[in-house]
Amino acid sequence: MSLVDTRTPTPKYFISGATGDWEMVIGMEVHAQVTSESKLFSGSSTEFGRPPNSNVSFVDAAMPGMLPVINEECVRQAVRTGLGLKAKINKRSLFDRKNYFYPDLPQGYQISQFKDPIVGEGVVKLDLGEDGEVEIGIERLHLEQDAGKSIHDQHPNMSFVDLNRSGVALMEIVSKPDLRSSAEARAYLSKLRTILRYLGTCDGNMEQGSMRADINVSVRRPGGEFGTRCEIKNVNSVRFAGQAIEYEARRQIDILEDGGTIDQETRLFDPKTGETRSMRSKEEAHDYRYFPDPDLLPLEFDDAFIAMLAQDLPELPDEKHDRLIAEYGVTPYDASVLVAERTSVDYFEDVARGRDGKLAANWVINELFGRLSKEGMSVEDSPVSAAQLGSIFDLISQGEISGKIAKDLFEIVWTEGGDPAKLVEERGMKQVSDTGAIEKIVDEIIAGNPDQVEKVREKPGLLGWFVGQVMKQTQGKANPQAVNEILKSKLGI
Ligand code: ADP
Ligand code: MG
Repeated sequence: MSLVDTRTPTPKYFISGATGDWEMVIGMEVHAQVTSESKLFSGSSTEFGRPPNSNVSFVDAAMPGMLPVINEECVRQAVRTGLGLKAKINKRSLFDRKNYFYPDLPQGYQISQFKDPIVGEGVVKLDLGEDGEVEIGIERLHLEQDAGKSIHDQHPNMSFVDLNRSGVALMEIVSKPDLRSSAEARAYLSKLRTILRYLGTCDGNMEQGSMRADINVSVRRPGGEFGTRCEIKNVNSVRFAGQAIEYEARRQIDILEDGGTIDQETRLFDPKTGETRSMRSKEEAHDYRYFPDPDLLPLEFDDAFIAMLAQDLPELPDEKHDRLIAEYGVTPYDASVLVAERTSVDYFEDVARGRDGKLAANWVINELFGRLSKEGMSVEDSPVSAAQLGSIFDLISQGEISGKIAKDLFEIVWTEGGDPAKLVEERGMKQVSDTGAIEKIVDEIIAGNPDQVEKVREKPGLLGWFVGQVMKQTQGKANPQAVNEILKSKLGI
């Protein structure tokens, strides 16, 4: 890989050490399990959570004479992902054997792609809020088999092997060393997961291991030569990725400032201590003796195949983001929050269509998402449906209820359910727009508070106090606009 620095050093990200400033350089290799019914080279099911060794064919168990047959759906998924990463799709790619011994790898080698991967260079755009946008380069994406799983904790002196995962298709997505902070690295992982979920090519479920990251970290003087990197293996959460990077960069800076050098090595992150520790050094690294797999032909397809997949691609997060701004007038920040999950943005659009987009964004993000995250729930389980929230908005825009009453109504729908319009009727929550009724209350308040009336003529800011009194008497149901107008005219301000 050619290491070209595409970034201008950003002082905000510099880490100050005893001898001056340092800068982090981060590149990631993300393993993403392909969403497919069956494995990469066999017809076995990929279903998660089955009893050990129940998804294992003769091919997966590497019985003598068994031959791999490529699963076309996995190829489609890899191409779709490449298109989603705005990457170059290679119409000809090769499968290689990566040789190593491990009990959970019955073939004695992993079928992977080495020199000629299915997908080449691409790009992922990150929205860093106040820090602006950056583009992170993708070096390549290749297809490979997953290994099985060794189980060491079920018997005092025996280990077991579960081959259910053996042969499941993985996409390895390799970034360029373009990331410059733990915040960027976290944003990159989240964005990648969002893209994969939109595409439906990987469920992005990091806790179940369907997406995991090997994180390469080095440090250097700002804008200087790239330093020696360490690779932190198999990080399975966005938060851990951030912690591992912070710890690792600090560790390397301390060594360098003490006059030492960094050994290129593979390390592991321990979530309990928040530290990384050495797993193997460069000398212990495997020599995989890659060579083209003689059982598999080169993988070839034509432009029509790519065009067909491109045509069926869903709208992707970046495009959706820009459309939300144009169509509903939401802010770029709100658009980023909304597009992070497809279910969230679908909900938003169901509410916002034909209504006030800004109001919808505000409510969906602050009231709904706020409430959902407090309860540890996701949009799918929301007790308030998009249709219900939509009719609450309609009641506001028709002047039936005020924004304040809308919040009470939201609370009732959340806990009890029901049709918002009916609830407003039944519980007498309707806004009082009848000016006669409001005037009567205003007259009473003016008559009963001569001191305040005197003051408000000099300090019009006190009008709020009068509005508050009216609202108190009407239990918040008076139309605020009408109240303001009537008060102003009666008080002569
Ligand atoms: P390997 O073949 O050993 O896995 P690669 O050149 O493919 O190495 O790079 C693996 C990952 O390491 C890539 O994501 C790349 O961006 C990253 N990387 C390479 N050099 C550095 C560096 N000096 N600091 C941080 N990351 C790096
Ligand atoms: Mg690698």
